[in-house]
Amino acid sequence: MSNHLYDRVFAPHEDNPKPFLIGETQTLSYAIFHEQVNKLAHALIASGLKTGDRVAVQAAKSNTQLALYVATVKAGGVYLPLNTSYTAHELEYFISNAQARLVVVDEKAKQAVTPIAEAQGANLLTLNADESGTLPTLAEQQAAQFEAVARGSEDLAAILYTSGTTGRSKGAQLCHRNLHSNTEVLRDFWQFKEDDVLLHMLPIYHTHGLFVACNLLAMVGGSMIFLPKFNADKALSFLPQATTMMGVPTFYTRLLNEERFTREASQHMRLFISGSAPLLAETHKSFAARTGKKILERYGMTETNMSTSNPYDGERIAGTVGVPLPGVELRIADAKTGKSVPDGEIGIIELKGDNVFTGYWQMPEKTKESFRDDGYFITGDMARIDEHGYIVIVGRDKDLIISGGLNVYPKEIESMVDELEGVTESAVIGVPHPDFGEAVVAVIVAADKTLNEESVMEFLANKIAKFKQPKAVFFVEALPRNTMGKVQKVTLRAEHKELFV
Ligand code: AMP
Repeated sequence: MSNHLYDRVFAPHEDNPKPFLIGETQTLSYAIFHEQVNKLAHALIASGLKTGDRVAVQAAKSNTQLALYVATVKAGGVYLPLNTSYTAHELEYFISNAQARLVVVDEKAKQAVTPIAEAQGANLLTLNADESGTLPTLAEQQAAQFEAVARGSEDLAAILYTSGTTGRSKGAQLCHRNLHSNTEVLRDFWQFKEDDVLLHMLPIYHTHGLFVACNLLAMVGGSMIFLPKFNADKALSFLPQATTMMGVPTFYTRLLNEERFTREASQHMRLFISGSAPLLAETHKSFAARTGKKILERYGMTETNMSTSNPYDGERIAGTVGVPLPGVELRIADAKTGKSVPDGEIGIIELKGDNVFTGYWQMPEKTKESFRDDGYFITGDMARIDEHGYIVIVGRDKDLIISGGLNVYPKEIESMVDELEGVTESAVIGVPHPDFGEAVVAVIVAADKTLNEESVMEFLANKIAKFKQPKAVFFVEALPRNTMGKVQKVTLRAEHKELFV
């Protein structure tokens, strides 16, 4: 038997002498990268890794960390990347929940994590931001050849914990087939080829930066300008070498804030892709006006990999996430029954296909609740199909506001508020209200400092029904966002929860 994911995604270029990872100070060829992968694979096995074991990794983004992901897959393990901002207390949950066999952390976290690893009977290794540590040292002493451990299409390749906005974070199990099939689909849909150079400034503990970007470029034999994090200066200085870029919406708004980001600076670029959070239609339009190029927005989630995308050749429509990718079955369903709603009506996005994960790690109940009897996964994202047949996301089901028994979709109000001259962006939330159950509250970032609650209310007065109009309006300097650019509505709701009670 072969190693399903490794053979299809990584093996084809393992001896390629061309650059794979281009950094600020060094460039790594595919061949050297794979030598590192092989040595790390030996080191993992020497440290006790058995086929199917989980390798939990919290480390700064580096070439070695990427090689560690590939090495884990090649050695038959299950890769478990962890957000670098998690505290030791949080790590304890992930390490014990996943029953990790190996734990790899930065030297700085070693003291705090040692008792956690010991309690779990896991071995602890270190990998630091400068790529030193006990793991690379052990790898150095290993052979440069490694025969991939046999793994089938249904075997697990990775577990990624969801950000867990409600309750405990859940481990999304991704099998070899899930990751491989999605990479192949994206390669064809976005037309990635060997001569592509991707500007990579995303974190690699998340599906976007790790699987969408790295699996794809590795499979086609392209190169990545692989930088620790987003920085507008760095983006502008490396852009001339790139052909494509993947980012969260904030990358694009920050680029637009730079006067140096001009039509000339981006003219050579084949493709700009955005995802992980909604790209404001306004950003899409400003970007097109500035560069003459339309950002391609796609939609996915940890559990489903990428599910929909605006087309490469056809019309890319601002404010939409495009159409289902090949092989993805998608329906907009009634939350209660799971039956498709009529076209144009709002429902929950439900999905089926090789891209959809195999369930939550050791949570059979949660897994069962998340799938319909006919196998569709209930994403929790609310959407409708527009007149072009494109999907428009209107929010998460948990963001839905029920005021006086009536449904209010935050996105509808946000889009309207954003149309008001001087408004940069907005977030609409529901907060507890003694009469209405929930009251609509708008939190606004405005460039025009003369705007106030009254001017916003006046603007909305004749546009939307009374029950949808905010009962309070707040102005802030910036909306709270996580590293993937997602607005943290949980934080906003917590801040305003006592407004009316
Ligand atoms: P994660 O699992 O961290 O990738 O988060 C997945 C969630 O991000 C989805 O369920 C959506 O709510 C949101 N998301 C991803 N891409 C988009 C997009 N293009 N537009 C709106 N929301 C998105």
